[in-house]
Amino acid sequence: MTPEELRALIRTVPDFPKPGIQFRDITTLIGHPQGLAASVRHLAEMARACGAQKIAGMEARGFIFGAAVAVELGIGFVPVRKPGKLPIETIGVDYALEYGTDRLEMDPAAVSEGEHVVIVDDLIATGGTAIAAAKLLRMAGARIDHALFVIDLPDLGGATKLASAGLEVRTLLDFEGD
Ligand code: AMP
Repeated sequence: MTPEELRALIRTVPDFPKPGIQFRDITTLIGHPQGLAASVRHLAEMARACGAQKIAGMEARGFIFGAAVAVELGIGFVPVRKPGKLPIETIGVDYALEYGTDRLEMDPAAVSEGEHVVIVDDLIATGGTAIAAAKLLRMAGARIDHALFVIDLPDLGGATKLASAGLEVRTLLDFEGD
């Protein structure tokens, strides 16, 4: 399936989680066998072209696509987790949300010094989550040059923000608005 065909499998839910947000729901995409396989194949081709030695994905939807891409390429997967989930001493970064802050954590031993890790997530909106993930992975010693997403919301400017943080963004498809 082409990225344009995949677009039709993504469900848009208006006013979730709050009024004015068009929630791009991938539940319908990953429930479709060919849609799931094609999304993973397209992302894996991009990750291979980037020279990925490992894939990192953010909890929770980044785990779905990221782990599948890692399997497709025969490389390892690094889970970037919500706080308090890992049973070992972690490293973490706090980052700003529209209201308040959030935090990402990882096992500092999950990557080696200079290892080329590619970030995979379902969607880039403002780019805040991906920038925090890149900062964290870089703290652990990874080389982070690329971030891949199924969906881009270009009106929110995330890809531009990632570019100024030294990250090249590649996406399968985009939706206007937020
Ligand atoms: P951001 O940090 O602003 O780039 O937001 C990234 C995360 O928020 C993504 O991993 C998405 O899972 C989620 N997200 C933000 N906006 C939307 C939206 N309109 N539809 C679905 N998920 C969204």
